Amino acid sequence: MADLILFWHRRDLRIADNVGLAAAREYSAKLVGVFCLDPNILDGDDVAPARVTYMIGCLQSLQQRYQKAGSQLLILHQDPAEGLPRLAKALDAKAVFWNRDVEPYGVSRDRNLQATLIDQGIKVETFWDQLLHTPEEIFTGSGGPYKVYGPFWRNWIQHDKATPAALVENLRGLTDTEIAATEAIKLPTASELGLAWDRPLFVEPGEDAAQNLLDQFCHSTIEGYDQQRNFPATVGTSSLSAPLKFGVIGIRTVWAATETALEHCRSEEGRKGIQTWRQELAWREFYQHALFHFPELAEQAYRPLWQTFPWHNDEEHFQAWCEGKTGYPIVDAAMRQLNETGWMHNRCRMIVASFLVKDLVINWQWGEKYFMQTLIDGDLAANNGGWQWSASSGMDPKPLRIFNPASQAQKFDPEAEYIRQWVPEVRTVETKQLVTGKVSAAELERCGYPAPIVEHKQQQRLFKEIYREQKEQLPQS
Ligand SMILES: Cc1cc2nc3c(=O)[nH]c(=O)nc-3n(C[C@H](O)[C@H](O)[C@H](O)COP(=O)(O)OP(=O)(O)OC[C@H]3O[C@@H](n4cnc5c(N)ncnc54)[C@H](O)[C@@H]3O)c2cc1C
Repeated sequence: MADLILFWHRRDLRIADNVGLAAAREYSAKLVGVFCLDPNILDGDDVAPARVTYMIGCLQSLQQRYQKAGSQLLILHQDPAEGLPRLAKALDAKAVFWNRDVEPYGVSRDRNLQATLIDQGIKVETFWDQLLHTPEEIFTGSGGPYKVYGPFWRNWIQHDKATPAALVENLRGLTDTEIAATEAIKLPTASELGLAWDRPLFVEPGEDAAQNLLDQFCHSTIEGYDQQRNFPATVGTSSLSAPLKFGVIGIRTVWAATETALEHCRSEEGRKGIQTWRQELAWREFYQHALFHFPELAEQAYRPLWQTFPWHNDEEHFQAWCEGKTGYPIVDAAMRQLNETGWMHNRCRMIVASFLVKDLVINWQWGEKYFMQTLIDGDLAANNGGWQWSASSGMDPKPLRIFNPASQAQKFDPEAEYIRQWVPEVRTVETKQLVTGKVSAAELERCGYPAPIVEHKQQQRLFKEIYREQKEQLPQS
């Protein structure tokens, strides 16, 4: 009789191009998937209904994939530290395999669980899967982790990239009697978990849908990416962030698609688009490496100056920002896109983050948490990296970056199409007023739209003053 292997899925909700799963299949055909709905994560206060709904949809699709391959994906609603050893024991599994993660909670959970399973006499094998290059692979000349993206990218792009892992097929699963001896449950809905998202999902769940998104993007949009990616009214980006966050598509498959796109590309501009998109994939890896090497980033600003920053933290201003009622049309459009779809365009993430921190003088961690509570693609490494970049509190060498909402709108939403889409009450206001943010009092009254809650220039001066004082107190930061 073949040995039973359990494959623990976490942020790799697919059977194609899955490094750990393919290795498990080589080890034994009697291979069963397991996913833990972990109360340590799901009961937290930074969980987004859109994200959980997407994840549940992906799990449903993964169950179907397992079934087609001849096996099952078991669902536990338990702390994996307890649930997995019990499951392995109940099924007399010989080994548990999984792909590694970079998040501090995952790293320590995995370390403890591995020790428990080994004590129980169960073999554990772990793999790197979610990155093209692991945090243990890319180092500076002096052997340390990179803290600046530019040199990281120049090193990262030179390394050979792996090809997709083999598709897992022809499995043998469990009998009904064996399953009955476990604590596996029927996959709950997001509503049953108390996390319902009642609007359409920004991206369709499942491996096929993710592959379609990638194919569509690489057949059409990628060549124009360098030109189009900053215009939020245009579909100029891939929308692959949620599939990549949950590993619904393999990163090697994504890379291979960029190679095919390059082979077919006939213009210099097209090649530039493909290369710029690859740079975004490298940003994703840069932030994951940073979190792996500096887990303290999850809790605090990287630069000491920002750890003691005297934030104003005005609750009413924060509420207005969350609801998209700041009186700054481009900021409000972006926040409403987030609230209504669970996704926000990258350019707008930078605009609203800068506004929260530099104009409202609110701690970036409030914004970081609100994003995690709302984003379908909310991911600790990318979100924390994006917020620390915008706050100027992270590893980025630029000392103080302040976005002017009006210049941003004039440059990236010149016809106010994005503003009109998400702030419908101002649809009939003339474009110039919308993009400069200088909407007349009469128009504000007519539309029922709020006047700006702060004045940008004044806040910019104020912020620079506080920053200067902080720097004087902490000159090394
Ligand atoms: C304040 C702030 C918060 C952010 N929070 C998140 C988050 O929680 N989850 C998340 O996936 N991205 C986050 N980003 C990065 C970026 O905004 C999104 O990845 C992107 O908008 C997703 O759209 P897309 O899939 O169409 O991206 P594309 O432009 O098509 O990029 C392709 C992929 O590259 C990765 N990527 C692109 N830009 C970045 C970046 N700057 N940092 C890290 N990875 C990147 C994503 O996986 C993305 O799907 C954040 C950025 C900022 C400024």
